[in-house]
Amino acid sequence: MTASAVRPEPGRRRRLRERLREARLDGLLVSRAADIRYLSGFAGSSGLLLVEPGLATLITDFRYEEQARDEAAPDVRLEISSDGLFDAVGARLAEESPGRRIGFQAGALTVQDRQELEERAATVLWEPAGPLVEEQRAVKDPNEIGHIAEAAGLAERALAATLPLVREGMTERDLAAELEYRLRREGSGPLPFDPIVAAGARSALPHARPGGNRLRENDLLLLDFGAARSGYCCDLTRVFVLGAAAEWQQRTHAAVREACERAIAAAGPGVAARDVDAAAREHLSSLGLGERFGHGTGHGIGLEVHEEPRIHRRATGTLAPGNVVTIEPGVYLPGRGGIRLEQDVVIERGGVRVLTGSSIELMEL
Ligand code: ZN
Ligand code: ZN
Repeated sequence: MTASAVRPEPGRRRRLRERLREARLDGLLVSRAADIRYLSGFAGSSGLLLVEPGLATLITDFRYEEQARDEAAPDVRLEISSDGLFDAVGARLAEESPGRRIGFQAGALTVQDRQELEERAATVLWEPAGPLVEEQRAVKDPNEIGHIAEAAGLAERALAATLPLVREGMTERDLAAELEYRLRREGSGPLPFDPIVAAGARSALPHARPGGNRLRENDLLLLDFGAARSGYCCDLTRVFVLGAAAEWQQRTHAAVREACERAIAAAGPGVAARDVDAAAREHLSSLGLGERFGHGTGHGIGLEVHEEPRIHRRATGTLAPGNVVTIEPGVYLPGRGGIRLEQDVVIERGGVRVLTGSSIELMEL
C-alpha cells in the first residue's frame, strides 16, 4: 500500500523451509490470509503463497498487482493469474517431477478448494500439513511486539477520549460508534472486531452486540474492543459503573481482578498454558464463581485477534518468550450483569510484561 510497507525478513521463510524438511514435505501451499501476510508481506485479500525449497511464489490477480509488488519481500516471486489462483498453482507444479508431496492448510481450505487443487495439480500428492505457520507466528519478534504495543496504546487513548461522552440514556450502539471513531482517529487500521459495548444485564452476555439498549444509572458497562497497527491487533476489556457501584458489583469485580492478576503472575516462559488458566479458575471457584466463568482465560494475538497459543482448561501448549496473549477471566451473572477484565501480556525470558497499561479498577462514571 505504501513504500514504507514492512517487508518480512527472509528468516521467516527459511524457518518454515526447515520445518517442511522435518515434515518431509516438498512444499506448502499457504492459503490463510494472515499466514500469507506473515510470510510474504502481502496483505491483499486474494492470494496464495507456494513455499518450496528454493522458491516462494505469491499468486494473486490483476487487482492486487501493484499492492503485491509494493508489499512482497524481494525474494518472493510474484505471479499474476488471470485464470484463477488454483490454475496458476497447477501450472507452477506441473513444471516439476510428479509425486512431490505438497502440504496444504486443512484449516484454511474448503473441501471444494481441495478438489480443485487435486484436479489442477494431479501429479502432486497433497497432504494436510500441521499448524506449521501458526506455530511460527506464535513467537513474535520485537518489531511485531512493538506493533501490538502501539495498537494497545492507541486503543487506551481512544478509550480515555470516549469515556467523558458516556451519558445516561445513550444507547450501546451510539457509544460503540463513538469508540470506533476515536480508535480510527488515533490511528488504528481496520478494527480487528466490532467493539462489544454491553450495559446492565446485557454485560452478562460474553459476546453481546451493541444495540438499542440505553445506559441507565447503576448499570455495569462492559467495553471489549481492539485496534490494529500494521495488521497487528490488541484486544482489551474494561468495566465501568454508571454512578456509584453497588456492593455486589464491587465484590464481583474484585474477584475477577484478583483472578486476572493471579493468571498474569502465573504466566511466564516454560509455564503450561493450562496452569495459567487454572490460576484464574481456581480463584473464582474458591469464591463459588467457577460455574459463572464459562470460557478460556486467554488467547494469542497478532495478525489475527485469536491465534496461538490458547489458554484454556485443556490447552496442551507451553508458553514461550515472544508469545503475546490475552488474560481475560470473567464472571457472568444472568439477569444482573457480567464483569470481564482483559489484559494483553508479552511473555519474556525473565517473566511477563503487561502491554495494556490502563487501570482495571472499577471506575464510576
Ligand atoms: Zn476482547
Ligand atoms: Zn480476547
